[in-house]
Amino acid sequence: MPHVVVVGAGVFGVWSAWHLRAAGARVTLVEAYEPGHSRSSSGDESRIVRCGYGADEIYSRFAMRSLRAWRDWAQESAPPPQAPLFHRCGVLWLSGADEAYVEATRRTLEAGGYGVQVLDRAALRDRFPQVVAEDTDVALLEPDCGVVMARRAVATLARQLERRDVPVVRGRARPGPDQAGRLRSVTLDDGSEIRGDAFVFACGAWLPKVFPELLGPRIRPTQQVVLYFGTPAGDERFGPRHMPAWVGFQSGVYGVPDLEGRGLKVGIDRHGPAFDPDADDRALDAASLEKARAWLARRLPGMADAPLVESRVCQYENTSNGDFLIDRHPGHANVWMAGGGSGHGFKHGPAVGEHVASLVLGSADVEPRFSLATKSTDAARSVY
Ligand SMILES: Cc1cc2nc3c(=O)[nH]c(=O)nc-3n(C[C@H](O)[C@H](O)[C@H](O)COP(=O)(O)OP(=O)(O)OC[C@H]3O[C@@H](n4cnc5c(N)ncnc54)[C@H](O)[C@@H]3O)c2cc1C
Repeated sequence: MPHVVVVGAGVFGVWSAWHLRAAGARVTLVEAYEPGHSRSSSGDESRIVRCGYGADEIYSRFAMRSLRAWRDWAQESAPPPQAPLFHRCGVLWLSGADEAYVEATRRTLEAGGYGVQVLDRAALRDRFPQVVAEDTDVALLEPDCGVVMARRAVATLARQLERRDVPVVRGRARPGPDQAGRLRSVTLDDGSEIRGDAFVFACGAWLPKVFPELLGPRIRPTQQVVLYFGTPAGDERFGPRHMPAWVGFQSGVYGVPDLEGRGLKVGIDRHGPAFDPDADDRALDAASLEKARAWLARRLPGMADAPLVESRVCQYENTSNGDFLIDRHPGHANVWMAGGGSGHGFKHGPAVGEHVASLVLGSADVEPRFSLATKSTDAARSVY
């Protein structure tokens, strides 16, 4: 079995290391900062896990595989009474102006037997009286889906990997010397070298810095804001027992119920300005706050005057259309790139890790949707 060096301990890196180790490879994980750190895309409190993807069945399939893995892993890693790593609060799709996409999602989920409930306006009112959606004829509920405690999950997986003899080395790695089309090692900033037989670069928004010529024009990090609003004291309507996570891509706003008392989270999904994940400040902008407040006033009037208790700036690492990039580097036969989560990658961590391990160990082919060849340099988002 080869020695595989995985660079980047975000969700794609830790799950790739997990599956490579489980398959018997010797694995070293290298992380520039800290697994689940604040500047990584995986470093926010929570990430939604849904299986609905319009007509894009490939992502529904990956998501279902991952949902099962997240649930089992979370149950094993943090059994009650520990704070859960996965909340099965359900995911609600509010159609509004988004009817065609939601209808395509319903068809895909029903055809695949994924478990989806269709709620008409009256059923939606009965089930979630705290949500106002009079412009929504039909809503979808994915009752088995929910939310992973993202930052904690990634940090926990990294610690578990260390217990499985996967050293987690702190340091920023860059590709070292090449010998006959194969990378021999990565070099850290302190000059040390880590040799390997194969390399996986799962560097999120940093991929364009690692491979500037190849990926500079193909992965565009954008600034993305999430806001946490304080729920009224003693009011459980906005917690995970009563409130699902929700998505509505046309409105450009999605959210997560109040978990662990951190506040109800509202995320702005529209792509923000270009962003440097190392250097840029992570300050909230007035327009995002205004948009989130307008959404709360319209959809969750019980939260209309809620105070902002925290905000966070993260980054999407966008490919041209939102499809992942999981492919071999064209210049090095033993180097793989795994990234391009494009604002929807976290949930897929377990299945992506499994796929990466199969590619590295030679038991799978590159999925055309994830290939480098299909990544153009235009921005034309079609996968959400
Ligand atoms: C605001 C926001 C909300 C989102 N919501 C959801 C959601 O609800 N559901 C969902 O499924 N997805 C969501 N996503 C997308 C998801 O979070 C990302 O797609 C996913 O976390 C990307 O993981 P990654 O491992 O590719 O990157 P990262 O988590 O960024 O990890 C990359 C790691 O590589 C390290 N690294 C980089 N370069 C080097 C180097 N040279 N040497 C060593 N280490 C290096 C970095 O320090 C970092 O830790 C959201 C994203 C954002 C920003």
